[in-house]
Amino acid sequence: MLLGPPGSGKGTLATSLSEHLGVAVFVTGDALRAAIDAKSKLGEKVKADVEAGRLVDDETILALAQGFLAAHPEGVLFDGFPRTIRQAAGLRSLVSAEDDLHVIYLDASEETITSRLTSRRVCPGCGEIYNMRFKPPKKDGVCDNCGTTLIRRKDDTEEVIRDRYQVYLRETAPLVDYFARELLRVDGNLSGDKVLERIRGELCPA
Ligand SMILES: [Zn+2]
Repeated sequence: MLLGPPGSGKGTLATSLSEHLGVAVFVTGDALRAAIDAKSKLGEKVKADVEAGRLVDDETILALAQGFLAAHPEGVLFDGFPRTIRQAAGLRSLVSAEDDLHVIYLDASEETITSRLTSRRVCPGCGEIYNMRFKPPKKDGVCDNCGTTLIRRKDDTEEVIRDRYQVYLRETAPLVDYFARELLRVDGNLSGDKVLERIRGELCPA
């Protein structure tokens, strides 16, 4: 599983790591949407919560994670789950003793995160994500794929980022201690390539 503050690069890492390891990625938001689309009993409950603006409870999210794990016996990469100690305890109980649980902690400073997220731009046309510092478009302010003018997401402002970071510190940061035994700490201030290199060296020694 991948652990780290918002903007530490979990999403990008999840994509490259899942390709490298040949495992499926579980992202809570995607799993919630899939459950709604499947119109399962769990999906109906999720739909009701989402429509009422309620937070989906830990038990429901755990049930989705359990179903995903059962459907992918070759292994799963959890991105942004578990988010709370309660979810973490649930995940531990799902992983049997002979299975390996690896926790990769992307340790990035608040400064790094803020500068990354405020320089992020998205294409409203095709969904491509750019970063004005690390991955700028070829032509200033315009999408390489489709030529649409890039925008800044409204939750990529410093104020929103600071709030999300505070929520992370309160709810998710305690997981670093909780998983102390399984933890592989990686410097999330490094570039994505360097991070991947480090993890591959640790998890797949040649
Ligand atoms: Zn585009």
